[in-house]
Amino acid sequence: CGIVGYVGSQVASDHPLDVVLEGLRRLEYRGYDSAGVALVSPDGKLATAKKAGKLANLVEELDLRPLPVSTAAIGHTRWATHGGPTDVNAHPHVAGKLAVIHNGIVENFASLKAGLLAEGVVFLSETDTEVAAQLIARAYEVTGDLTAAMTEVARSLHGTFTLLAVHEDAPDVVVGARHDSPLVVGIGEGENFLGSDVAAFISHTREALELGQDQVVTITPDSVSVTGFDGLPAQARRYTVDWDAAA
Ligand code: GLU
Repeated sequence: CGIVGYVGSQVASDHPLDVVLEGLRRLEYRGYDSAGVALVSPDGKLATAKKAGKLANLVEELDLRPLPVSTAAIGHTRWATHGGPTDVNAHPHVAGKLAVIHNGIVENFASLKAGLLAEGVVFLSETDTEVAAQLIARAYEVTGDLTAAMTEVARSLHGTFTLLAVHEDAPDVVVGARHDSPLVVGIGEGENFLGSDVAAFISHTREALELGQDQVVTITPDSVSVTGFDGLPAQARRYTVDWDAAA
């Protein structure tokens, strides 16, 4: 299971979708049963593609139904825990104008889901993740801020998670959060990266930030900001990866 996020000018790098697919390939060693991507185009349109099985299935789907050019992109390989390995249960999960990917388990998803069902929310998948997606979308309706929405929901989730979200209203932003699950930032020039580990972006940059426990990160092409689940600015450890990039 792996997570990749990218925002960039496209001048600095390849097509964001290619960056994310390459990152997912480099994370394949972690094992997975499904894969998917979500993109937000500069004019604020969300597009997703997801398939059960190998990355090759997703690539075939993308060849048949190409996605628009984007500024922000997120990619996921899934190791199913809640709901079988099907196309529908594959990530990203969309809630309104928002798409979310998740590695880990939301332990309290059943009670959170019951509350949402009682309010008439319709779920498409059997995953714990779609509950988080719905909660972040609802928090965004109130706060109008993706980082604030992610932070509020991260505080309410139990279990283990790395979550990434993109939103149509913020075409050049990816927000991530982590609790008992890894998330690393790759720092580029005019572009920034997120990954489950540095393998996700090692061919693009060796400058990295390792997020601490219970931190939220917001990346744009030109900025990286880290806060705690309390919403206050937080420090992440910066380092230079000294791996052979060919590894
Ligand atoms: N619990 C989530 C699911 O079953 C995420 C699994 C993963 O870590 O890939 O969809």
